[in-house]
Amino acid sequence: MAVYGLDIGGTKIETAIFDHKLNMIKSWRVDTPTEDYQVFLETLRQLVEQADDYTGERGKIGIGMPGLITPEGQSLSANVPCATGKYIRDDLSKLLSRSIAIENDTRCFALSEAISGAGKGYERVFGAIIGTGAAGGFCKKGTLDKTRQGFAGEYGHIPLPADIQSKYQLPVHQCGCGLMACVENYVAGPGISRLYQHINGATISPQQWVERLKNKEPDAQHVLNCYLDILGSTFASLAKFLEPDVIVLGGGVSLVDEIVDNLAPAIEKYLFAGFRAPQLKRALHGDSSGVRGAALLGAAINET
Ligand SMILES: [Zn+2]
Repeated sequence: MAVYGLDIGGTKIETAIFDHKLNMIKSWRVDTPTEDYQVFLETLRQLVEQADDYTGERGKIGIGMPGLITPEGQSLSANVPCATGKYIRDDLSKLLSRSIAIENDTRCFALSEAISGAGKGYERVFGAIIGTGAAGGFCKKGTLDKTRQGFAGEYGHIPLPADIQSKYQLPVHQCGCGLMACVENYVAGPGISRLYQHINGATISPQQWVERLKNKEPDAQHVLNCYLDILGSTFASLAKFLEPDVIVLGGGVSLVDEIVDNLAPAIEKYLFAGFRAPQLKRALHGDSSGVRGAALLGAAINET
């Protein structure tokens, strides 16, 4: 039976049709309605019906979206304001008369990479996206680690260690989540710009920082050292709790060689002497991991 993965972002919804072997057959994108929940639901219904028309079947459905999804299916997402507090799974399930799986998009990424991507063959896989934000999900033996409230793996909201704050005299930022000094504010893309501004004074993009790094600018190198200290200590904390065999990295920041190539020793600096960092790998499926992971969850639905 065909399976549909829907990856709902703050600006676009990607829909992908997979065959029963999970080969992607077709995918397309539409704008995300973010202000009116009824319009949002209607858009999802139409996307599924378009997929049904294409396959001639009533396919299984998995949805990935940013923000927290409680086990009851309630969404809490800053990126899609109209969906916050709503039960998308149940509402759409009624409209389409079939069961639907829904999960946080980063957890979809982690599942996709654990089952058929860079984490394949490893027992304990942590998927970490570092892009405009920093979020993660953990899989054990190819299954998502489900928790009561759904926030396990949110390493972006571990606080900045005091010794690193003091070493670089870093400003303490208030995070969008309401807490203070969450590492997301330093390690996600916008965080790189903040670090550079703190050290050099100039406002530049992460891409411009990479260029300056390649030109061996001392301030850019200083930012890299600070960045590696923060991400290294964060992943060391993660390893102390979960000890993943591999951390699969996704998102724009994971494409920066200077970060990925130097990350293992940066993690080991904050582990016990003589212990090794988890393997570090780049995601295999890139941008399509979200729809693929959502489809994997959809494929696992057992209609009774
Ligand atoms: Zn936070």
